[in-house]
Amino acid sequence: ATPMSVMAGVGRAAELGMLVRNGEALQKASQLTTVVVDKTGTVTEGTPAVTDILVADGFSEEQLLVLAGSLESASEHPLAEAIVSAAKARSLTLAAPDNFVMKSGFGISGQVNSQNVLLGNTQWMTFNELSHDSWQAKVDGLADEGKTPVLVALEKQVVGILAIADPIRSDSKAAIERLKAAGIKVVMLTGDHRKTAESVARQVGIDDVHAEVLPADKAFHVKQLQEAGEKVGMTGDGINDAPALAQADVGFAMGCGTDVAIESADITLMRSSLHGLVDAVLLSRATLKNIR
Ligand code: ADP
Ligand code: MG
Repeated sequence: ATPMSVMAGVGRAAELGMLVRNGEALQKASQLTTVVVDKTGTVTEGTPAVTDILVADGFSEEQLLVLAGSLESASEHPLAEAIVSAAKARSLTLAAPDNFVMKSGFGISGQVNSQNVLLGNTQWMTFNELSHDSWQAKVDGLADEGKTPVLVALEKQVVGILAIADPIRSDSKAAIERLKAAGIKVVMLTGDHRKTAESVARQVGIDDVHAEVLPADKAFHVKQLQEAGEKVGMTGDGINDAPALAQADVGFAMGCGTDVAIESADITLMRSSLHGLVDAVLLSRATLKNIR
């Protein structure tokens, strides 16, 4: 391969809105056999909003939103932004929480107006020795609709659920079809609820889904695919995706993603669409073919 032509390919990529770190990244992109996609912010828009509010007897939606919104005001998770926005949309007054604790991939806890509040997934409730049995059917039903159920507990009792939905990007399905047509396998990797992930995957044509994956385990999944002989591309947007982006043969960051994701990536897609990833693979193949 002549480095000149590869550099021309890097330049052409930039014209198409892809920032390729170096010639090696472009060469590796031409050899990918599997692409691993993160759900939130990649397949979906990454702008989640509260769609449903379920409350226990004796509680109002506003009470639930004040507790949840106050605690989430200390978090930077996309789900947190959705909950805080929903509270603000109703002009509710939020309090800054005390003793805020975040557990990546599970949820958060702290005190709101001297009351103990916990927010997160069912695993987070179990971890804190809280029963959520009476809410399980509701949790599963919401997840089946592709929504993320966030349980809200007050003083060791689950008092409600906030369901959050993140719209699927309008072009995700077509881009995934193009990837498959290019002979590339597509795998979804997400920390979200299994049923939520399966619902989103079904809507965009992804058959291979790994859900409820902890942030630290994302890189391990990529490594396992590599050990099975795959050349792996990985897309992600979040801080929790950075180790997996670094582990992948080619890490693709969404241009709208966090700085940490962009720094860990080999190729940054300015358009924040999976079409950019397909374009990068096809361009790299064409560039390398001209050289051989
Ligand atoms: P993803 O892989 O989709 O980016 P994360 O690993 O960030 O997801 O989070 C996985 C799950 O942990 C979320 O779907 C949610 O159930 C729970 N969770 C994490 N952080 C929070 C938070 N701040 N508030 C509520 N739930 C949270
Ligand atoms: Mg993410």
